[in-house]
Amino acid sequence: MTVIKNDYISVNKYTRPGSKLASVKGIVLHWTANAGGTAKNHKTFFGNGGGSRYAGAHIFVDKTEALCIVPLNEVCYHANESTCRIKKLFGKVGNYQGNANVTTIGVEMCVEKNGTIHKDTIDRTVNVVTELCKKFGLDDGDLYRHYDITGKNCPAPWVTKPSEWAKFKDAVQAKLKGKANTSTTNKTTSIGTITKVSADKEELVVDGYWGAATTKRLQKVLGVTVDGVLGKATIRAIQKKVSADPDGILGKETIKGMQKRFNTPVDGIISKPSTMVKAMQRKLNNNKF
Ligand SMILES: [Zn+2]
Repeated sequence: MTVIKNDYISVNKYTRPGSKLASVKGIVLHWTANAGGTAKNHKTFFGNGGGSRYAGAHIFVDKTEALCIVPLNEVCYHANESTCRIKKLFGKVGNYQGNANVTTIGVEMCVEKNGTIHKDTIDRTVNVVTELCKKFGLDDGDLYRHYDITGKNCPAPWVTKPSEWAKFKDAVQAKLKGKANTSTTNKTTSIGTITKVSADKEELVVDGYWGAATTKRLQKVLGVTVDGVLGKATIRAIQKKVSADPDGILGKETIKGMQKRFNTPVDGIISKPSTMVKAMQRKLNNNKF
């Protein structure tokens, strides 16, 4: 059952240019920064040309519904007010170049009158993003704040408190793991004319966040079962490599061992983001640990 309701606006140059996405490599989270504006309000606003500004997003979520106002295979102008900082998301379609707008889906969270994002809105957004991940073969390593793409302060509450953003991604990943058995098979998704190969065939994003994509790549390199779940067998394989006690638990000693191996500060803690995880992701991209 989908949690996303399609209610498309008409094609217009400002808010629904009608161009096709090159591929879907990520999902970008936003907040509307518009206190009291519902999903319906935003559909109406962008349906009327969005004040003749080049802007918009695919999906607007509020505490009662999630409206998809632009089809998921079309471009929205949601994350390109300055240069894209994520190399993986550079896309080129016609006149658009190096632009995350052609490789991502934009999801906007609506804001309450008091300037906060309601818990129900966040919960609904978790469901929306989980559904999108399944549809496009993505996972928590493919989720971005608008801030990560261009440096814009959006969604502001998650820029101020990165722990809330980490919590959101964990919630999505937990929902995805519920379907771990079916998502380990290689999926190909065809969007427009370009075919996206499943996540584990791609280069890992070096972002310092240890999500399922990183675990999958790690499992491949270490030669254990590839399921994206950081379980005992995977941790033991790591422990063997870093000469830690093979108890299958990712504790301080094991983390310290990894930090030594990757020449990063040794404190036994994995921060979000973590320089050790970044170093590991770089190695994994070369099929090394
Ligand atoms: Zn934004």
